[in-house]
Amino acid sequence: MTSAREHIEFDVLFVGAGPANLAGAIHLMQLAQKKGLDLDVALIEKGADIGSHALSGAVMNPIALKELMPDYLSAGCPVEATVRGDAFYILTQRSQHRLPIVPRVMKNEGFHVISLSKLVHWLAGIAEEMGVNIFPGFSGAEVLYAEDATTVTGVRTGDKGRDKDGQPKSNFEPGIDILAKVTVLGEGAKGSLVREMNKRLGLFDGRLPQTFETGIKEVIQLPKDNFFSNSPFNDVHTLGYPLGVSTHGGGFIYQMAENRISLGLVVSLGYTDPMMDLYEQFIRFKRHPLVMEMIEGGQVIEQGARTLENGGYYTIPKLAVDGALVVGSAASMQNGPALKGIHTAMKSGMLAAETMIQAFSLGRFTRDALDLYETLFENSWIKQEIYAGRNFAQAVSKKMPAKAIHLALQVLTGGRGLIDKMSIKEDSKTLSPLRAGMDSDSGRPDERQNYDGKLFVDKLTGVYLSKTQHREDQPCHLVVHDPDLCVDRCYSTYGAPCTRFCPGGVYEMDLDEKTRKRRLKVNFSNCLHCKTCEIKDPYENITWTCPEGGDGPGYTVM
Ligand SMILES: Cc1cc2nc3c(=O)[nH]c(=O)nc-3n(C[C@H](O)[C@H](O)[C@H](O)COP(=O)(O)OP(=O)(O)OC[C@H]3O[C@@H](n4cnc5c(N)ncnc54)[C@H](O)[C@@H]3O)c2cc1C
Repeated sequence: MTSAREHIEFDVLFVGAGPANLAGAIHLMQLAQKKGLDLDVALIEKGADIGSHALSGAVMNPIALKELMPDYLSAGCPVEATVRGDAFYILTQRSQHRLPIVPRVMKNEGFHVISLSKLVHWLAGIAEEMGVNIFPGFSGAEVLYAEDATTVTGVRTGDKGRDKDGQPKSNFEPGIDILAKVTVLGEGAKGSLVREMNKRLGLFDGRLPQTFETGIKEVIQLPKDNFFSNSPFNDVHTLGYPLGVSTHGGGFIYQMAENRISLGLVVSLGYTDPMMDLYEQFIRFKRHPLVMEMIEGGQVIEQGARTLENGGYYTIPKLAVDGALVVGSAASMQNGPALKGIHTAMKSGMLAAETMIQAFSLGRFTRDALDLYETLFENSWIKQEIYAGRNFAQAVSKKMPAKAIHLALQVLTGGRGLIDKMSIKEDSKTLSPLRAGMDSDSGRPDERQNYDGKLFVDKLTGVYLSKTQHREDQPCHLVVHDPDLCVDRCYSTYGAPCTRFCPGGVYEMDLDEKTRKRRLKVNFSNCLHCKTCEIKDPYENITWTCPEGGDGPGYTVM
């Protein structure tokens, strides 16, 4: 049994194999080659394979990929389809109204429908060919600091082979300390290392609170003759049913290759109704007559969920600290109104690469050298794009008619609206308490009898279709800080909303028949790594940490 902790040194360590870091790694190698710099670069990813934790809509604006690789199409970029037309619908429970004009931010004609899993897998192959050392199955568990306690020196990967009580088993392998001159955090929305760094270095001090949406998504195999075979549009967005006007969010349906579609519902986590069950909303969306027409005869082949940050410009953290940079969704690099973050994530990674090349020429990796990243960002097209939607999340968090007034004024004033930098509540603070007489089971529609196991699957079948696996005998990676609070206060006040907002059915409120006492049961092996629980829990009583590297979803076409 090895127990001594090893360490490896690199020039640059990227944490997370999303589009941000992969574009960053490729661009870094491109620039280093041009300058004749020989850099040792590593990238770690918590998924078992590159792409197995990647989930997106995903219509990609190719602007950043074109900058990175002008020949991306001939180089074999896995494009599913190119958008030939957009349709935007307002749904009511039984009917729909197609808008004559698609809102500008939702016009995707000419953009590509992709599978993010396939895209990052392809990008990783290119990065590897250029000399990047890629280590899937390794989670970054802890940020390492120099003696000054503020300079980031790398990341400790998670231990493997501990039992559920945290004791080392016979196959125990301690995590490795991966040291680097620069560490690039590209963990996606609600990064767990970024969260810890924020506690120490105040990355988000003075910013508006980051706010999030949860998206539940499926890839559905359709018959050869299907709605999209002869449709002039293959990019569909919806607003309205099932969320109504008070809760922000909407549906998307994108045509993929091989008669498949990507279908999902995104719901703002600023919602107020404690009884809201995100998975049930998703099923209702699929049962809408318009959507039913589009998915008729289909079969779900993959399902998953993930949060995305939508807070915008005023939630962007400090992008550089001594020894580290933050990129992509972890740094709020999202065009919220357009539901697009792949191209902005990629560009942020590329700007980080340009910054690092200059830092290597200077031989300095302190914040003053890495701050160039902030400057490059402020002068880039991503800043302009994200800045235009800077008050969007705040406006849609308001009730009608204030929401409509704010949005209209933002359209007229290039995003400024009535109040610039409007306040917004954290998602954990928006739930209303249960109304008198309600309990956790009140008003719960039982849709189970309608699950056919093919086109409509229940939560647990969905988890199965996400190919999620966690070794059972390991410490629970979902840390419930005070389990008594769940029973004593959360259950009576909010009806244990974790049992409804978790799309994987991780949380269950058990009732002991003998003692009549309730207990929160955490089925962590179902966890889809979406991080909704950490964001939405009204008492901030749940912390998401990385399980053993390699565990989690096994997406292939998401
Ligand atoms: C439902 C949904 C629909 C969307 N639709 C679109 C769309 O149509 N178009 C669009 O452009 N954008 C869309 N987005 C947004 C887009 O997916 C993100 O903006 C983008 O993926 C962010 O890229 P990233 O590299 O920053 O992070 P991610 O893509 O989230 O990648 C982060 C990676 O880091 C890994 N990781 C995290 N923490 C650790 C750790 N501690 N150690 C090791 N590895 C770690 C994760 O496993 C993951 O692989 C959508 C998002 C969602 C959720």
